[in-house]
Amino acid sequence: MPDDQTHKPEVIIKGIPASPGIAIGPVFLFRKSAPTIREKSITAGEVPQEIARLEQAVARSHKELRKILDFALSKLGDDKAKIFEAQLMILEDSILFETVYKRVRNELKNAEFVVHDEIGKYHRMMLTSKDEYTRERAHDVEDVRNRILRNLQEEKLISRLEGSSVIISQNLTAADTLILSRNDVLGYATDIGGITSHTALLARALKIPAVVGARNVSHSVQHGERVIVDGYSGVVYINPSETTVRELEEKQRQFKLFEERLSELRDLPAETLDGHRVELSANMEFEKEIEFIRLQGADGIGLYRSEMLLIGKEVFPSEEEQAEQYRLIAESMYPKRVIIRTFDVGGDKIVADAVKENNPFLGWRGIRVMLDKPDLFLEQLRAILRSSTKKNVAVMFPMISSIKEVRAAKGYVEEAKKQLRAQNLPFDENIKVGIMVEVPAAAVLAEDLADEVDFLSIGTNDLIQYLLAVDRGNDVVSGLYQEFHPAVLRFLRRIIERGKKRDVWVGMCGEMAGDPMATLLLLGLGLDEFSVVPKVLPEIKKIIRSVKLREAKRIAKHALSLQTEDEVKAYLRSTMKERFPDIPLD
Ligand code: PEP
Ligand code: MG
Repeated sequence: MPDDQTHKPEVIIKGIPASPGIAIGPVFLFRKSAPTIREKSITAGEVPQEIARLEQAVARSHKELRKILDFALSKLGDDKAKIFEAQLMILEDSILFETVYKRVRNELKNAEFVVHDEIGKYHRMMLTSKDEYTRERAHDVEDVRNRILRNLQEEKLISRLEGSSVIISQNLTAADTLILSRNDVLGYATDIGGITSHTALLARALKIPAVVGARNVSHSVQHGERVIVDGYSGVVYINPSETTVRELEEKQRQFKLFEERLSELRDLPAETLDGHRVELSANMEFEKEIEFIRLQGADGIGLYRSEMLLIGKEVFPSEEEQAEQYRLIAESMYPKRVIIRTFDVGGDKIVADAVKENNPFLGWRGIRVMLDKPDLFLEQLRAILRSSTKKNVAVMFPMISSIKEVRAAKGYVEEAKKQLRAQNLPFDENIKVGIMVEVPAAAVLAEDLADEVDFLSIGTNDLIQYLLAVDRGNDVVSGLYQEFHPAVLRFLRRIIERGKKRDVWVGMCGEMAGDPMATLLLLGLGLDEFSVVPKVLPEIKKIIRSVKLREAKRIAKHALSLQTEDEVKAYLRSTMKERFPDIPLD
């Protein structure tokens, strides 16, 4: 690398993590200019020659795509190769091309102009679709059109690279990504594209680190400059300092080691020996946790504590800021589900207004605050809805204690939808709505509440403090804060049974879900979803995968027959010690 470049300042650009891994190397700037098309008139005598030229360009495009399809089939398999089959189908669309030929003959215009205009109509139509998938597929149509145009103009595209490099481009089509991968490609980074873009899809399939949607990365680098593409966190470093390089190399090493250790478990479902599957998701507070959560093999995010966005802020983040943040999380986890909990302010968390309360935990908290602040609530709900276009976002309300509150909160969801419709902004019309069961009143009303929503998620952190009248943050009474108190166990059984009877799924996002000593018990009680601190995820999965549901049910039944917390703990501890001597319990 030339000396003067080592002194260039490091530039950091954030995008969306599209394919995991870290790539360090020189940039190959892949620039593909949009074809310039001129409208020209031709004479009737020139028509046969123009048609022949067009036929030739279509035939050459067909041959190229056929080759790409074969390569994709051999390297990626049927599933991923479908993209190219779809492009071939566009080329083979006889109705479309008959129109093109007819227009050349009737309008006496050059082939480039007619191809550009006619296929452009399809492209524009698809781009305005409300469906994100159709919009993404519009690029296929555009790609086919550009391929024909390139062949009409007899232009060649660079596809052979010298040495290993990190490809940086404004955008990469599926074909570009694949063809370039025949070289030694270390990583990809593009200005545009989402997690479902072809670059992302194919990079994952090819196991090449990639970051997409990195704004103007292609205008910020020069050919040959050194870059790092961090596909775990979605960050691109241009001219990284030596310290950054060392840090990222270390990260690469750590992640590799970690991945090797967990790789057996990571892609396996949280399923018992007799095939009973539960969902094992992660709780999330900060954006930077996403990469770790994904690495841990979470089935989704069962609780995103959105109020963490308020830390250190004087005012609530704007709808735009929130929408961007929620979208980033949803995209990074796609197609897995992300449950966004609306701001749970108050209690021991951030306060919305400077209110002084003697008993904040029993005061103005969670949904109570948001229902009193409709503007803030609607802003957040619109932001959440706007992030739901890929249909992998759900919304959840904290601190629900009555049916009235749920209905009011749902009313605001409908209002937010109405406002977005009026603005023509897309969202998931069928977004799932759930509540936290963390106030005893909600546990008592579980079945009625279940009729109002799509899911229940038990918040044991608060539920235990309210049920046992023990402040969750008070050292003096910490010995009385008992997860395995028989009243807690019976309450949990009640919520799970009643919720399920009304056909909603019941999960848990309180700390208890991530306590290895509680796993068999909760499984036996019929819990459908465990949302846990990311760190413990593999351990919990290991426990779930080594028991039969039948046994777990038996364990739960016995635990529920006991009278004191000591007895329950002693029983569960001995059961666990017997089965998992290497898992530390407290
Ligand atoms: C809970 O109360 O169990 C919960 C998950 O919510 P938080 O800890 O954020 O109050
Ligand atoms: Mg709570």
